[in-house]
Amino acid sequence: MKKEMYALVKETAAPGLTLKKIPVPKMGVGDVLIKIRKTAICGTDMHIFNWDGWSSRTIRPPMTPGHEFVGEIAAMDKYARGFDIGDIVSGEGHIVCKTCRNCMAGRRHLCKNTVGVGVNCDGAFAEYLCLPYENAVKVSKDIPEDVAACFDPLGNAVHTALKFDVAGEDVLITGAGPIGIMAAIIVRHCGCKHIVITDVNDARLELAKKAAPDCYTLNATRDTLNKAIKDLDMKEGFDVGLEMSGNQSAFADMVDYMNSGGKIALLGLHSERTVINWDHVVFNGLTIQGIYGREMFETWYKMMSMLQTGLDIAPVITHRLDARDYEQGFAAMNSGKSGKVILDWSKIGEEA
Ligand SMILES: [Zn+2]
Ligand SMILES: [Zn+2]
Repeated sequence: MKKEMYALVKETAAPGLTLKKIPVPKMGVGDVLIKIRKTAICGTDMHIFNWDGWSSRTIRPPMTPGHEFVGEIAAMDKYARGFDIGDIVSGEGHIVCKTCRNCMAGRRHLCKNTVGVGVNCDGAFAEYLCLPYENAVKVSKDIPEDVAACFDPLGNAVHTALKFDVAGEDVLITGAGPIGIMAAIIVRHCGCKHIVITDVNDARLELAKKAAPDCYTLNATRDTLNKAIKDLDMKEGFDVGLEMSGNQSAFADMVDYMNSGGKIALLGLHSERTVINWDHVVFNGLTIQGIYGREMFETWYKMMSMLQTGLDIAPVITHRLDARDYEQGFAAMNSGKSGKVILDWSKIGEEA
């Protein structure tokens, strides 16, 4: 086993990441050591890369970010169970305490003491990642590695999209980022009626159209939801809303255009100043449900099952790069024109 590995390190409290050699992480009790094959870049990683207000409050350099990955089990602590060396795995990036009320009741996604891989501890932008064996998830061989590298955000999309029954329903998705587009593909797979997806960025809406061809795309800077409702001959507003944008007016519009009794799953992060029409919520009996992470591990099970029965999110992946070209990948993400960006770690470190 190598002693050193390449990793993308946030060295100081400043923008950027540095590709450099650091020690291979040491396994603790019950850990598995995963040799990373591919990683995907998340919005969270962009915050860390760009060093914004959230990351300067949250991240403690030096550290290695990254939490969207696929790799293979390279070593196991003697207390790790359920895996063999060489198994292909992805993993849940939320490490829970196992002792709080929610953990004890099996609601691990609601743990108060969650530690985020690649946020609160070293992450996956490296040749090797250490993870508790309970967080590793075996990947079925018929699922492409690029797709498996996106299980974390796909799990967010699955968790949000399946929160409410969408079969036969009209669904509004606000935000055509990768998770919003994945959600459109999922609700179609689950038999919804109309899908309207909104954004303010034409490149993203074009990608949505390509990846989920029968969804109705709408640029909120040019048109209102009235147009969608008229074009689709909808009578009573949306039954289910999936808020993925974190944009205040998108959320406010969603509330205004819901049918009575409509249900909103809220994944987008909003500022405390976001204003919605609370009269609509109360008088129309709306449900607003916050969504965080993935249900452990029901979301993972459903995600894998759907991928094995025709769900295809590969069109959301727009860039595949060698990890050494990471700067290109982060630039693509910063441009606002990319879908998921995959970094391949298989060639890096070969000379060592
Ligand atoms: Zn992520
Ligand atoms: Zn807990």
